[in-house]
Amino acid sequence: MIAVLGSANLDLVVTVERAPGRGETVTGRTFATLPGGKGANQALAAARAGGDVAFLGAVGDDDFGRRIRELLADAGVDVSGLAVSDQPTGTAHITVDGTGDNSIVVVPGANGTVTALTDAHRATIDRAELLLLQLELPLDLVVEAARYAHAREIPVVLTPAPAVPLPEELLEAVDILVPNEHEAALLAGIDDPIAAAEQLTRLCDDVVVTLGARGAAWLSGGETIPVPAFPVQAVDTTAAGDTFVGVMAAGLAGGLQLGGALHRASAAAALSVQRPGASSSMPDRAEIDAFLAEA
Ligand code: AMP
Repeated sequence: MIAVLGSANLDLVVTVERAPGRGETVTGRTFATLPGGKGANQALAAARAGGDVAFLGAVGDDDFGRRIRELLADAGVDVSGLAVSDQPTGTAHITVDGTGDNSIVVVPGANGTVTALTDAHRATIDRAELLLLQLELPLDLVVEAARYAHAREIPVVLTPAPAVPLPEELLEAVDILVPNEHEAALLAGIDDPIAAAEQLTRLCDDVVVTLGARGAAWLSGGETIPVPAFPVQAVDTTAAGDTFVGVMAAGLAGGLQLGGALHRASAAAALSVQRPGASSSMPDRAEIDAFLAEA
């Protein structure tokens, strides 16, 4: 089983010709509500890809929270560890203007109430083959969870997003670190993403730096192994990284070595970028198999 301890949000997205200035009201073009949050995205991607997944986190006692719970449960994710908080479900308020630029206000809400491991969290992590973490829950909790799993020899996968400087005690408890190029550069303090990832292998055994349409690079034991991208026409890269990590985890839990899991992850991410949205763009196992058979 793959345990995912992370955020669940509802993204409230408006498109508008021109974003309003201070004190101004403008008329928007479209409005959509899309389930998101890196934790929920990774859980969903792993479950769609055939993984046995348990999600740990919190939502509010509101319609947004019920919608997220239902989406995850429908995909087969165990949501018994998804708590109901007295804070509202986390939201991301996203304004996309006519040039495609966006501005975002994130309200962590219920996500911010997950501040320490509970007995129920520990019991789930104890049974897990893999723990997936990101940085959208309070950092102290992420550190606690990583160290807890690491001490029990349960492999820890960390997506270090959003990018913030991290304590060494966290990175030392991580087995597979999956930054994008900006996160790798920030964590290592080196602009070149490969050199940055190489530096990070001093703390984590395996570092997989994702490079968008250029694929990814896996650094391990002094070697740099390319993970090619599949050439596709991208329309929306939202959650490509979360799809990549979720499908990698499903591959590992299904018995693949990391190289094989990364190949599947790259295929799944290539499928997801050809469709709009986050959860709506994630492929299932059969679709990944069919894509790989044709590639
Ligand atoms: P990113 O988070 O943008 O680095 O993307 C994560 C992964 O998604 C990459 O490592 C690729 O495997 C895949 N990916 C992202 N953008 C594209 C693209 N335009 N075409 C194909 N694959 C992509």
